[in-house]
Amino acid sequence: MLGSMMKKELLISDLIVHAAKYHADTEIVSRETTGEMHTTNWADVGDASRKLASALGKLGLSQGDRVATLAWNNHRHLKIWFAVSGGGMVCHTLNPRLFPEQFIFICNDAADKAMFFDKTFMPLITGTRAHLNTVEHFIYMGAHDDEVAEAVPGVVFFDELIETGADDYDWPQISEDSPCSLCYTSGTTGNPKGVLYANRSTMLHTFSIALPDSLGLSANEVILPVVPMFHANAWGIPYAAAMTGAKLVMPGPGLDGDSLLGLVDDYQVSLALGVPTIWQMLLASAAKSGSRMASLKRNVIGGSAAAPSMIATFRDDYDCDTIHAWGMTETSPLGSANQPKAKHADLDAEAMAALRVGQGRPPFGIDLRIVDDAGKEFPNDGTTQGALQCCGHWVVDTYFGKDASAMTEDGWFDTGDVATIDADGFMTIRDRTKDIIKSGGEWISSVELEGVAVSHPGVAMAAAIGATHPKWDERPIIIAVKAEGAEVTEAEVIAHFEGKIAKWQTPDAVVFTDTIPLNATGKMLKNKLRDQFGNTLIEKGT
Ligand code: ADP
Repeated sequence: MLGSMMKKELLISDLIVHAAKYHADTEIVSRETTGEMHTTNWADVGDASRKLASALGKLGLSQGDRVATLAWNNHRHLKIWFAVSGGGMVCHTLNPRLFPEQFIFICNDAADKAMFFDKTFMPLITGTRAHLNTVEHFIYMGAHDDEVAEAVPGVVFFDELIETGADDYDWPQISEDSPCSLCYTSGTTGNPKGVLYANRSTMLHTFSIALPDSLGLSANEVILPVVPMFHANAWGIPYAAAMTGAKLVMPGPGLDGDSLLGLVDDYQVSLALGVPTIWQMLLASAAKSGSRMASLKRNVIGGSAAAPSMIATFRDDYDCDTIHAWGMTETSPLGSANQPKAKHADLDAEAMAALRVGQGRPPFGIDLRIVDDAGKEFPNDGTTQGALQCCGHWVVDTYFGKDASAMTEDGWFDTGDVATIDADGFMTIRDRTKDIIKSGGEWISSVELEGVAVSHPGVAMAAAIGATHPKWDERPIIIAVKAEGAEVTEAEVIAHFEGKIAKWQTPDAVVFTDTIPLNATGKMLKNKLRDQFGNTLIEKGT
């Protein structure tokens, strides 16, 4: 033998062992479902998750069993994550914003055996329980509560259950290829599909997102994951916080702008992560209150495109550097992050701003390419747009319960996005394939139009869709929500596009509405908008 290195499986349990040992007193702050704040630390999360894993074993759960959570981001949820995955079971985070039919479909498809729930979601449990065919144990995330006991017969209480666990429980030494968690895509069209993550894929993803050119995490950060743990595992933050020993501030049910602003200022949050709609609310609250959000040095925007004007507001008004990131449930989720290189240091402000609006470059471990309809690769020239495909250590191969691989014949995953990639690997999402506006054979990026529309101070939110047109098949129109108190008109919004995009891409109409429907992960429901507003131009007699 020439010699060898130690072989240790890459396991989720190692994360919590590390955090509890080397970052024992680093705080985990969370808002309870009742509203008050709760503070604990990594040592407690370590002890509690070991005890809970032991208790779940005694309850009859074994390796590979799916254990669902219906919960906000809070300390009990964190303990459940490490208990379930560390104990060799599969943590299945459920999105409570799904329609009940989808919720039932997902629970049955996953064959969840146990389900933890926060009090907020008790009505969902009582309303759907008769249809949840496989769930044997409902576990309420709190102390004994008579109201819950009456509403959910047979319910087990987290705070009592954990006491049945053994203090000397040892984490099982399982294979790193065994599954640790399960997330479903939001299924805008068709039934949601499950992505089953392995210990190994999750650990490699965790190392990757912590890197300086990804999200740059460390024991010096105070991280606010606004993105829910049920949305692509909060983009991996709970794992990466344990790996790096970062402090966590978990928002619980308080996802409105004022509550989030309070957390940022009260707990000196240095890094926060969430989808664009969250930031829009936070910025409105900050503007109203006059807070400078002085501690917030960086934020991560993903899930949908961040409007250039939003990135600029964070930079210019709040001295906060936005990392624009792209990913999917199928990519664990981080696939790219926008961090400049040394060669960009001399760019002037305008060129730097232009670089930072895209979704960035892939970290080691992820490869990206753009292809034509036949799957032939396009050049990375920054202008040619094609179907975005990816492959890597933390990308789905086969969906949960399916036989056929989700990969192309040559081993790539088709993302359903249309993008450009430049010579340095900087990728820009132009649209989702199904949302791109096809006008007279040319493609118009709805993302770009939305970015321009929301840069008008009178527009709070905007969706660009293709409306049916007798001559051009589709023409772009904007569905807009006015900013509070704004008096903006259609003509003013259309005039705002002048000089910002090619003339022929200018929207043909602007329709104002009170709200734009969002899906369960906060994305604009374009198919609903197309149903509702798709005939706007025909009706106008264009
Ligand atoms: P679903 O696809 O089921 O809605 P995901 O949360 O996995 O759920 O969504 C992944 C998709 O979200 C990507 O394919 C892409 O279209 C979109 N997306 C994610 N991040 C960004 C971003 N920064 N900019 C634009 N689109 C994004």
